Amino acid sequence: MDKNHYDRPLITRIEAGMPGKFGLRSELPPTTHIDGQPVAELIKTYGSPLFVFSEQTIRSIYRKALKAFTTRYPKVQFAWSYKTNYLSSICNIFHQEGAWAEVVSGFEYEKALENGVDPRKIIFNGPGKTHEELVKATENGSLIHIDHLDELYTLIEVAESTERKPRVAIRINMDTGIYPMWDRFGFNYENGQAWDALNKIMYSGKLELMGLHTHIGTFIMTANAYAVAATKMVELARALKQKFNFQVKYIDMGGGFASRNTLKGSYLPGSDTNPSFDEYAEAISSALINSHFTPDDLPLLILETGRALIDEAGYILTSVIANKRLSAGRRATIVDAGVNLLFTSFWYQHQVTVAQGVSQYREDTTLYGPLCMNIDCIRESINLPVLNPGDHLVIHHTGAYNVTQWMQFITFRPNVILIDGTGETHLIREKEGRESVSGKELLPGHLKNIRE
Ligand SMILES: *Cc1c(COP(=O)(O)O)cnc(C)c1O
Repeated sequence: MDKNHYDRPLITRIEAGMPGKFGLRSELPPTTHIDGQPVAELIKTYGSPLFVFSEQTIRSIYRKALKAFTTRYPKVQFAWSYKTNYLSSICNIFHQEGAWAEVVSGFEYEKALENGVDPRKIIFNGPGKTHEELVKATENGSLIHIDHLDELYTLIEVAESTERKPRVAIRINMDTGIYPMWDRFGFNYENGQAWDALNKIMYSGKLELMGLHTHIGTFIMTANAYAVAATKMVELARALKQKFNFQVKYIDMGGGFASRNTLKGSYLPGSDTNPSFDEYAEAISSALINSHFTPDDLPLLILETGRALIDEAGYILTSVIANKRLSAGRRATIVDAGVNLLFTSFWYQHQVTVAQGVSQYREDTTLYGPLCMNIDCIRESINLPVLNPGDHLVIHHTGAYNVTQWMQFITFRPNVILIDGTGETHLIREKEGRESVSGKELLPGHLKNIRE
């Protein structure tokens, strides 16, 4: 067993997140270890840059979120949003914790099946499902969330051709006080589209209406928007009860909870200002339990939380390539992880810490990636100690969307590892090579030779 790492005792002044005349304090202590594993060793073993996921963090955040809801509402089910991070190891941690799968494409649907998820516990969302995919999901008894009327009509045809009743919900968009309003997915509440779609389903007799779904947006900074949304969902459920004496089995409130990240241009750090799971849970469950539902017909509450469950569990380890001075004298540091690996750097001010003991001398620095592209900037301005080539940095809260939206561009995508609950490391996605990029290319005969 490794010896425990010794951290010397340190007294630091607690700043309540208030900016001083020099802006926000940003002197974060070095991150020398992740879950007990030395960053320098991880890089030596697996290379740089390196994506690292903490299984312990994933499980503990999941349990915290689940508890926030189950203490306030008796029937709660999470469904893991595949597009947020569909590495099978990550999905399976959530599935082991009890989460269903929430998918938005045929590829993700197949992936959930391959991961062993019960098809009846796969929620199939998204505006682009094909006829073939709808047939398969119907035959499997998966939950199909209808996005538009054309899909509704296709499903009626599918019901006829398969002689099965597709299990469906409709996606509903609505005004929750968050602008710009997301109205491109599903049926609108305020203008009556949603009620119209529900009537069409009820009168068709061909579809089995299971529930109501909404996903009001992403990184929603106010819990109250969910209270508004849940109230509108309840109104539709009440109308179904009144007109058809029909009870919905579930209300799916989608995802969109903010993670601990800080949005660019924010005055205060996200970890201080973003709502907690408790606040979101309070808003949603109060709206549901204070409604017409009696204890016996309380619907299952489904949540498709993505980024808030995984962001904090992901890190990118990177190494300093070089330092330079920009024309105006500003310090710039070039690291080996670019924005092609860090899609979220376009809207987050990612926290970056050094991974080793450093000099006391700090300077405002621009942090660039290795791409020969002007946009490849990880942080425009960050107060960092002076670093030497070969020093390591840790980019925090990178678990959501980066390993799905990353892009093969100029460089290869690196290794991804998982540190399990015992501190053991596992390679969960191998780094790419030339074959992964060029392997699918075909060269016409007349272009095989470049010399006549
Ligand atoms: C992307 C998505 C989610 C997850 O959203 P987060 O903002 O990451 O929580 C949930 N449901 C649907 C339908 C989605 O498209």
